[in-house]
Amino acid sequence: MKAVVVHAARDLRVEERPVPDPGEGEVRVRMTHGGICGSDLHYYLDGRVGSFVLQGPLVLGHEVVGTVDLDPSGRHAPGTKVAIHPAYADHRCPECLAGHPNTCRNARYLGSAASDPQTQGGFAEHTVVRLDQLRPLPQGLELDRAVLAEPLGVALHALDRAGDVRGRRVLVTGAGPIGALVVAAAAARGAAEVTATDLQDKALEVAHLVGATRTVRVDREPVPELAHDVAVEASGSPRGLSTAIASVVRGGTVVQVGSLPGGDLSVALGALVSREITLRGAFRFTDEIDEALHLLATDDRFGHVVTHTFPLADVARAMDVALDPGRSSKVVLELS
Ligand SMILES: [Zn+2]
Repeated sequence: MKAVVVHAARDLRVEERPVPDPGEGEVRVRMTHGGICGSDLHYYLDGRVGSFVLQGPLVLGHEVVGTVDLDPSGRHAPGTKVAIHPAYADHRCPECLAGHPNTCRNARYLGSAASDPQTQGGFAEHTVVRLDQLRPLPQGLELDRAVLAEPLGVALHALDRAGDVRGRRVLVTGAGPIGALVVAAAAARGAAEVTATDLQDKALEVAHLVGATRTVRVDREPVPELAHDVAVEASGSPRGLSTAIASVVRGGTVVQVGSLPGGDLSVALGALVSREITLRGAFRFTDEIDEALHLLATDDRFGHVVTHTFPLADVARAMDVALDPGRSSKVVLELS
């Protein structure tokens, strides 16, 4: 079978690998679609994502869906359409016992060098995962749309960290794929206003299509201060965080979901004190993938986030398009 393997920075190969066999409690999935994430792009460009450095050749991909190929337990019939929860936690560390398996200290995540040994990903024609990672698709949801379940889970978790957004004014700084999905999820959950900011017209166009009530090109116009109940920072930039903090009302909440650069950052934090603003982080997700699948099955807006689809053999071209935020939002690979 073919697999997309990164060997080092700028060394990405489509390789032939043996079809894996499922062990006990595992199932083999014929992969159909995989979304390219910012972390896939970082492994490709830099051979690392922040402090997570490649430990050897890594099959990329954690936003993946497919059909059951072989389930030795007999629970899932061959051909069953499934999304894959990319994480599994140990369910016994203090974080897990406190109900936060997304921050499990022993977590493993598909296509990630965060664990030791690293965890191979799902950009391949077949992948073996644990039975409890499978999420059969709800009625009416096709695989080419279900591929958004993982990033939408991230977006929903970020909103969960902000509290109930119904009737509230929400700002989303950075309207790339995750930001656009936060916009869409906030609108779907009943936010009164959703303002999206970005430096790219393409990103703001997608944000508008999925439910932004206002879009702001931050290099051309200011973001109103003290004008939002909640801000979700999805750009991963210190300037975005400064904007988010300035934009919320007294007592407002800012959630950081975009990955920030390591090291010291220059961020305007003064209002955190004088306006008693709450600043929270959001990392991956827990069960939000189930709500994501329900939303994807019942609300058409999310489809606008997928702007390009390429066959697996064209992964290099797909990566180039995904690296150009002036052209693309979510780029999807057809895996088999
Ligand atoms: Zn744990």
